[in-house]
Amino acid sequence: MDKITIEKLHIYAYHGVHASEKENGQDFYVSAVLFTDLYRAGHSDALEDTVNYSDAAKLIHRVFTAEKYDLIERAANAVAEALLDRYPSLGSATIRVDKPDAPIGLEFDTVSVNITLSRHTAYLGIGSNMGDRQGFIDKALAMLDETPGISVTAKSSIIETEPYGGVEQDPFLNGVVEICTYMSPYALLDRLHEIENACGRVRTIHWGPRTLDLDILLYDDLHMNEKELTIPHPDMKNREFVLKPLAEIAPHLIL
Ligand code: ATP
Ligand code: CA
Ligand code: CA
Repeated sequence: MDKITIEKLHIYAYHGVHASEKENGQDFYVSAVLFTDLYRAGHSDALEDTVNYSDAAKLIHRVFTAEKYDLIERAANAVAEALLDRYPSLGSATIRVDKPDAPIGLEFDTVSVNITLSRHTAYLGIGSNMGDRQGFIDKALAMLDETPGISVTAKSSIIETEPYGGVEQDPFLNGVVEICTYMSPYALLDRLHEIENACGRVRTIHWGPRTLDLDILLYDDLHMNEKELTIPHPDMKNREFVLKPLAEIAPHLIL
């Protein structure tokens, strides 16, 4: 992948756990590797076809000095998020923060952290069978799209389906959405739970009635199987109400 690199941008800032670091400040060096396709710019010679590194450097400076953080991890992450928010053409960004005068009390050259944020494509299942079903789905989609780090890139039709899993209950509205996100799978799951809660979800019986259910179906081609999170969703291949809307918005997928 092509990249643009800004190396060791010198920034005086006030990050650190010690009170004296927040009072007196110290030197930091911020480096950024911006991954983006430069094919077009390489032919057109037009500034609008690339990421303007002068603007990017100013953005890095502004974000890095906007707050006083305890951790350079936090400062690096804030910079990476700001760059991905500002430049849709970036596929990923690696931010390195060097803190050469960190209060360690031993002789050393520098300490640094590296954080990489990348954009991922995920597919989410959405369902409701209680109350204002369409209203909950609309609210969930709006909340998803307003979440920093998530944009909704495709929406299936919403279909009415019979309940699944043997519990006697009202019919569902179901759909699938495609999102582009730089959130990790766990951060995404936490956000989905927040949106479910905001739509009045209460967990009573498994597979029982709910105002809103948001499931992570796929996250790039990631495979993970942990207690809190299994991706791909383990039962999606058996569910017509998932496969049909998924095929509508992502006919190219091979499961
Ligand atoms: P199902 O997951 O079979 O569709 P459900 O949606 O009714 O059932 P919930 O009660 O909504 O199940 O979720 C229970 C837990 O499942 C969640 O708190 C979450 O930790 C876990 N979970 C595991 N994998 C996933 C996934 N891919 N997407 C969403 N939740 C998941
Ligand atoms: Ca579900
Ligand atoms: Ca669920």
